[in-house]
Amino acid sequence: MLDRAHNQPELPPEIARRRTFAIISHPDAGKTTLTEKFLLYGGAIQMAGQVRAKGEARRTRSDFMQMEKDRGISVSASAMSFDFDGHRFNLVDTPGHSDFSEDTYRTLTAVDAAVMVIDGAKGVESQTQKLFEVCRLRDLPILTFCNKMDRESRDTFEIIDEIQENLAIDVTPASWPIGVGRDFMGCYDLINDRLELMDRADRNKVAESIEINGLDDPKLAEHVPAAQLSQFLEEIEMAKELMPEFNHQDFLDGTLTPIWFGSAINSFGVQELMQGIADYGPQPQPQKASPRAISPEEPKVCGFVFKVQANMDPKHRDRVAFVRLASGHFLRGMKLTHVRSKKQMAITNPVLFLASDRELAEEAWAGDIMGIPNHGQLRIGDTLTEGEAIRATGIPSFAPELLQTCRAGDPMKAKHLEKALMQFAEEGAAKVFKPAFGSGFIVGVVGALQFEVLASRIELEYGLPVRFEASQFTSARWVTGDKAAVDTFIEANKQHISHDNDGDVVFLTRLQWDIDRVARDYPDVTLSATKEMM
Ligand code: GDP
Repeated sequence: MLDRAHNQPELPPEIARRRTFAIISHPDAGKTTLTEKFLLYGGAIQMAGQVRAKGEARRTRSDFMQMEKDRGISVSASAMSFDFDGHRFNLVDTPGHSDFSEDTYRTLTAVDAAVMVIDGAKGVESQTQKLFEVCRLRDLPILTFCNKMDRESRDTFEIIDEIQENLAIDVTPASWPIGVGRDFMGCYDLINDRLELMDRADRNKVAESIEINGLDDPKLAEHVPAAQLSQFLEEIEMAKELMPEFNHQDFLDGTLTPIWFGSAINSFGVQELMQGIADYGPQPQPQKASPRAISPEEPKVCGFVFKVQANMDPKHRDRVAFVRLASGHFLRGMKLTHVRSKKQMAITNPVLFLASDRELAEEAWAGDIMGIPNHGQLRIGDTLTEGEAIRATGIPSFAPELLQTCRAGDPMKAKHLEKALMQFAEEGAAKVFKPAFGSGFIVGVVGALQFEVLASRIELEYGLPVRFEASQFTSARWVTGDKAAVDTFIEANKQHISHDNDGDVVFLTRLQWDIDRVARDYPDVTLSATKEMM
């Protein structure tokens, strides 16, 4: 069983058995395949291949758009729940495309751990590194899965070294591969002292598992050819000298990652990894909030919105807000307070995502992810409580890296355009700035692909052809500070001032020099590249 850190109270069993996590990886490392196998072992799908559509879908732009149109898939795949070994797993999908890093960041605020998948031949790739840095900001515990061991892969020590060096985290082997490439025959499970032998003939078959009584058990030689056995024993000896032992607290602190070697496509090593998630956790963690943190065992329900997605039917403006329950036991029909507006909301049709099917949630516990259909009341960063005026914090919005002016093809439709843009801003799909001077809107995104996706969605969902044009600005910064100082600043910099969809003041510029100048000339005004969403 899991030991909680000594300063944290016991959780009710229903909460303690929950594991809410995300998978991070570089495209092509095998995230989709691994997800599929998780669902297979979680009993959520009968056949491998059902999640595939999505993984393939995002590879090209046109396919991506198709996926967006086919919103059914991406909505239901945003969070998936399934059971494993008495635990409830909530797997939250991180968007695969590197353009959506902000969305990814917020997704990672809703999980308690991450599984990092790397390709055994490629090691730590750029996107893995970026996503890892985000996990590090939150000290998320990380479990590592080194995939594609059935292929020619790098030397095991080299892979582990690279993780330690590039990501500055200690690595401890949970399993050790025997043989490489075509000679890869399986792994020694160092946690359970078992030999796991891969079956290449049947990809969905669970590996043959042989109990071994320690590394000097003669049974090993019965199953592993002499040459591979001696190499394996030599390596394991070295590994024990060079690498730290598993330490649960270090794992929970995010400073040590256990690594499993396997082959997702051959269903190899996947169950051991899932067992690792079940055994090591962590359980649902406390949520940062203002004016006080929220603990999962609190009896009252509190949840926060970390993602908003337009609903499947583009003709309806309905959206689904993804809520992570931070505390309590939710029952369908409950009336919750929407803290931002102070209004009551009856949550009558919440959805739990059981693999490819959506199901009405009759109940949910701290740690769970619920979808709440709504007409736009719920925004990213919003908190729902049983009355207390408390707000989840740590869900940031980042200054966009690309800015363009957006105009309606038909100038008479400016109001329509505003409405459409505001919707996407609230969904978190883009930043929308209304300049204090002049007409039009300035739209900010993190990756260029988002402009195309937006243009296509505005046309599809609002019947409104739009143009994106180069903007005179390239950077946006939120303006905060003493009111009088901010007012003076706005007055003197009118051409650079705009307001975002929350009405907050934003300084637009094209020069870093301008930003530095503000810091020098207006010491009581702060320009920041992030803002808390609430
Ligand atoms: P994603 O982009 O991270 O979601 O990666 P996918 O799961 O779509 O996998 C990328 C490619 O690698 C696909 O062609 C998979 O069939 C293949 N793949 C996934 N796991 C393995 C594995 O264990 N061994 C081998 N040889 N190929 C794999």
